Amino acid sequence: MVKIIKDFIPKSNRNRPGNYMKPLYITVHNTANTAKGANAASHASFVKRSSTGVSWHYTVDENCIYQHLPLNENGWHTGDGRGTGNMKSIGIEICENADGNFEKAVENAQWLIRKLMKEQGIPLANVVPHKRWSGKQCPRKLLNRWDSFKAGIATAHTGEKATAKPVKNTSSKPKASKPKKSVNLPSGILKVTRPLTKGSAVKAVQQALAAVYYYPDKGAKNNGIDGYYGPKTANAVKRFQLMHGLVADGIYGPKTKAALQKALK
Ligand SMILES: [Zn+2]
Repeated sequence: MVKIIKDFIPKSNRNRPGNYMKPLYITVHNTANTAKGANAASHASFVKRSSTGVSWHYTVDENCIYQHLPLNENGWHTGDGRGTGNMKSIGIEICENADGNFEKAVENAQWLIRKLMKEQGIPLANVVPHKRWSGKQCPRKLLNRWDSFKAGIATAHTGEKATAKPVKNTSSKPKASKPKKSVNLPSGILKVTRPLTKGSAVKAVQQALAAVYYYPDKGAKNNGIDGYYGPKTANAVKRFQLMHGLVADGIYGPKTKAALQKALK
């Protein structure tokens, strides 16, 4: 739960065009403003100035979230004119001020995105970087970890281990590389049972989950890829199902297999 402060741009401003919008996408930005004090409150006062030409829906920092526009009105934040980005997407700016905590702000943004996806019926596939609309290198601090950022939307503020850790060396390969297309996922049903379900089929599922950043136990030995279908693996399956529009029951069956195969491509 992060505090959301509604502080709307005055209706008389030219950066509040007031066009009706049914949001179909969520667009993520970084403020690119590293100055000290350039937090959400500071952007809220900037975007309310009558001279400001741009606008978006939310600014998120490590402490709180400011909302600048109602969700049924468009803003000018994606650089695609009257295209889909500006006319049909909710804009979220994540602060990167030098005196702030960027990773905490990222986690708050992930929490907000999960909430908006649920409330507005927006699928994870429609959570996109600003770059998608105009080619701009934005969100500049998240583009090199975009898949991991999206995977973290499922877990932010839920007490699960965060999956969006900062990438220290961008040139190093991620620990779990995507399996080749020849990956053989089992076609049966896998679930937590007693005695334990175990074996190479479970391992294949665990490896596939890890490759798309749903680690059975991130940080544990081999990220929890051990061939046992225990509660941690069931939890990883649950998180994956939740973010792919499936019944989140933690049971690996044909629908989960199909979604996992699709995610691996
Ligand atoms: Zn942007």
